[in-house]
Amino acid sequence: MSDRPYLLERVGEAAIAQLYADGFSALPLREKLLVWHLYHAALAGRDIFFDQRYAHNLEMRAVLEEIVTHPAGIDAEALAEILRYTKLFWINIGPFNNLTARKFLLTCTPDALRGAAHQAASHGARFPVHEGESLDDMLRRMEPLFFDLSFESICTSKTPGAGRDILDASANNLYQGVTMADLEGFEERYGLNSRLVRSGDRLVEEVYRLEGRYGKEIAAIIGHLETAIPYATQTMAKALAALVKYYRTGEDKDREAYDIAWVSDRSSPVDTINGFIEVYLDARGMKGAWEGLVYYVNHDKTEAIRTLAREAQWFEDHMPWDPAYRKQGVTGVTGNAVEVVVETGHAGPVTPIGINLPNDQHVRERHGSKSVSLANVADAHEKSTPRGFRSEFSWTPDETERAETWGAFASELLTNMHEVIGHGSGRIEERLKGNPQAFLREHFSALEEARADLVGLYFLPDPKIVDLGLVPAESHAEIVLAQYEAYSRNALVQLRRMREGSQIEEDHMRNRQMVVHWLIANTTAIDVRMREGKTFHVMKNAAAFREGVGRLLAEVQRIKATGDYDAAKALFDTYGIHFDPALRDEIVVRVEELNLASYTGFVMPRLELVRDDAGLVTDVAISYPMDFTAQMLEYSGKSREDRRPRR
Ligand SMILES: [Zn+2]
Repeated sequence: MSDRPYLLERVGEAAIAQLYADGFSALPLREKLLVWHLYHAALAGRDIFFDQRYAHNLEMRAVLEEIVTHPAGIDAEALAEILRYTKLFWINIGPFNNLTARKFLLTCTPDALRGAAHQAASHGARFPVHEGESLDDMLRRMEPLFFDLSFESICTSKTPGAGRDILDASANNLYQGVTMADLEGFEERYGLNSRLVRSGDRLVEEVYRLEGRYGKEIAAIIGHLETAIPYATQTMAKALAALVKYYRTGEDKDREAYDIAWVSDRSSPVDTINGFIEVYLDARGMKGAWEGLVYYVNHDKTEAIRTLAREAQWFEDHMPWDPAYRKQGVTGVTGNAVEVVVETGHAGPVTPIGINLPNDQHVRERHGSKSVSLANVADAHEKSTPRGFRSEFSWTPDETERAETWGAFASELLTNMHEVIGHGSGRIEERLKGNPQAFLREHFSALEEARADLVGLYFLPDPKIVDLGLVPAESHAEIVLAQYEAYSRNALVQLRRMREGSQIEEDHMRNRQMVVHWLIANTTAIDVRMREGKTFHVMKNAAAFREGVGRLLAEVQRIKATGDYDAAKALFDTYGIHFDPALRDEIVVRVEELNLASYTGFVMPRLELVRDDAGLVTDVAISYPMDFTAQMLEYSGKSREDRRPRR
């Protein structure tokens, strides 16, 4: 298994890698069948997120896929460019970069696209023309979507500049014709699961539910979830039934009942996340982006997380913030290391490596939360990354060696701490009514990510981590150094992802930028040094680093607990959002030489039923397609070989 391929191809600044789920074959048949049905429930919602991310996405995708599946006779140069763009479109779910939120273009001419479309049409391609519209009319109508950078140029714009509205400046499809000013005095009943549309002088909530927006996809999801229920454990069956109910009604009380049922299911070996969950796509941090994940527990790697989870109260009691914000009676922070079988919507092909849910602060405080660390994703990330990038950004050979020895280990531990004792921690003031998002708005998500990172960074050097057996005592100091150095370097290396502009949109990146630049400005932990025209972040004092992290964490928790919008804004405006484009250009040159991708899209494992001669299902086989294009076409139901999954 050691020489199997991880990195499959590079497309522009993106990498495409294969994800493996090694433990699947050893699962009992009942669990495999459960995964099988949930896998289809995850695929059934894929188009919802395409549509949420951009109103034109599904139409654009249909045009591209019709050309790609009817390539005969198309000019080779045009076809190559269309294919490059299509792959980026699939990875990023539309024409906006998933990290920068900025639009990227098809770089052939409109004429070349027209020629390719006509050629494809002559070989049977069927384009999504509107009633009474010719193919040329359609392409002319869609021209700005593919070719005009100034047309709807940012997907989520949280800081559009003075005088501009964050909803109006965002091209996503969560709102239509709505500005922040319109929302004043508006009673929003379906905050998480609706598209908000202006209709005349009123606002209408188009609710995401069976009889509402995305009803067709939701009906299919419900069908697969219901077929899955008989294979689930009792606690999981209860959660799935609650999810079905929520999909039917769309009511917030049913969402809450589902969250509680889901978080109460702590021991099932298989689990799924399926629904309108994360709010990063929304500049307001309110509307849930659809995602579907299916995974099973990796028991070996779970032990470390369980240890952290059992000790959650100890960490809470030692948080470096105002004791008023410490939670009492912390229960139910559950952590699992898992192997993902499929991720769609907001969660794939570009995937997180750790997840902590539910997001509902009320449910978290009363019922706890569940954390998962996506072990096979982290592994595939690590194995598809070129070696040279560590030495390029390290100040000394010692630093490089520490990164090579402990980098993967320390980052896995930090991810676990981030999810299990980070997001799960802390109390907020009663008057926020469990909804700090409403106060912190566009800065909420980045602040919450910072809080979780800071908790991990703060406790990493604590002797408690050794006592718990999470790190070997003799290497503890080296592991702390390796992680603090990596965190400091990352604020430089991540600039490669912002190929344009001078401003960061993505919340995790804002968080990391903010933490490191705050430490540079307010402690003696990190030096910014130059050598041979190259910039380095040199972490030179781990004690000062930790002391600063504790101070910053206390302030970040205070901001969250009190909903102090002005302080959050000042923190991110000063340290987290803006960067120097000249420095970015320097970093881009350095990573280009190392062939280091800005982000990775994953080819997911593929499942297939195995039947005996009598047609009875005897197994669920897992395979690894190694072909991103084939998988994306298959998911869209457009595979040339027509190998699309069937039930
Ligand atoms: Zn997080």
